[in-house]
Amino acid sequence: MKIERIQPFLVDRCLIVRVYTDAGIVGTGEAGLWSHHKLVHDAIVDLSAYYVGQDPSRIEHHFQVVSRDTHFQGAVLNAAMSAIDIALWDILGKSVGKPVYELLGGKCRDKITVFANVGGATPEARGESAAKAVAEGYRSLRTMPFLPGAETKSSTQVVSDAVAILRAIRDAVGYEIDLGVEIHRNLSKTEAVVMGNEIAPFRLLYFEDPLAPESTDALRYVAAHVNIPIAAGERSYSLPRFKEIIDTGAVSLIRPDLSLAGGFTQVKKIAALAEAAFIGVFPHLMGSPVNMAAYVQLDAAIPNYFLQESHTTADALNDILVEPLVREGGYVIVPDRPGIGVEVREEMLARFPYRGHTITGHFKDDGSVTH
Ligand SMILES: [Mg+2]
Repeated sequence: MKIERIQPFLVDRCLIVRVYTDAGIVGTGEAGLWSHHKLVHDAIVDLSAYYVGQDPSRIEHHFQVVSRDTHFQGAVLNAAMSAIDIALWDILGKSVGKPVYELLGGKCRDKITVFANVGGATPEARGESAAKAVAEGYRSLRTMPFLPGAETKSSTQVVSDAVAILRAIRDAVGYEIDLGVEIHRNLSKTEAVVMGNEIAPFRLLYFEDPLAPESTDALRYVAAHVNIPIAAGERSYSLPRFKEIIDTGAVSLIRPDLSLAGGFTQVKKIAALAEAAFIGVFPHLMGSPVNMAAYVQLDAAIPNYFLQESHTTADALNDILVEPLVREGGYVIVPDRPGIGVEVREEMLARFPYRGHTITGHFKDDGSVTH
């Protein structure tokens, strides 16, 4: 079997890639550098010159050839390689009639726990949003502990808001529902320590990305001064970088993005590094139902899977699939179909025009850029 053609598709806010073979099998993958999909689109077209004509089953070999040809690295290149890698695993699974999770060693679980995002412009609205999610069957919730206008408030007002939000959520759902906070890299080291200590009594399972991702030393400082487990890694894209993050001892959970950090070929290794350090894998996801399907295969196959990000808003794109994934309350059922378990209706892709990201910036009261 040989790769005949590779075609990227910009769809809604996503970048899907289709890899066509001379055996008639078509694999599908997705790229995760969501703010710069057009750059990744061009990278996929560029890399196609290598992949076309190759045997699609030599997946590890292709990753080595492309990543080590000139040793240039970066998120654009890695997102492109990740999307193609996912498609190659899809082809491999479809060529032998088995789901990708079987090729990775078999299922460790039958369904995937996903969390619900808790939103709302006031603490009361957060409580209502949390109660609604629990009523729908979710047992795991995540919230951003900020209220509108946080960027222009004093640091201590932001902490007060966070306490009010988490109190409202716990008042609404009690203490037996898993709850984590997502900071989206919005705090300084000082603010992260102060906020973390104030909100820790609300029994939080994770403190996600308190800081900008560049300094593992700063993350280690926050971990040493806050009594909430840290989750980090969604902007990282290489196996050695994940080893660095794990080796800091600062994180309890890592957040590799399958469609950025090297597809199944690299993320299975990242998961193994984490497993050896007793660290859970909490994959980051921003994408279409194609991407979610691929993640479900990974989550099913790794013993140290912790929790999966999913976006019900992406379900609006379910029409691009012949048979979408099945959600049951706070779970996604692991399908037993070959490859990544979904087939794309290619003719539907053009019905969702591309919506790119616009850089608008984030500013403090004094006009300077926030973290
Ligand atoms: Mg995040």
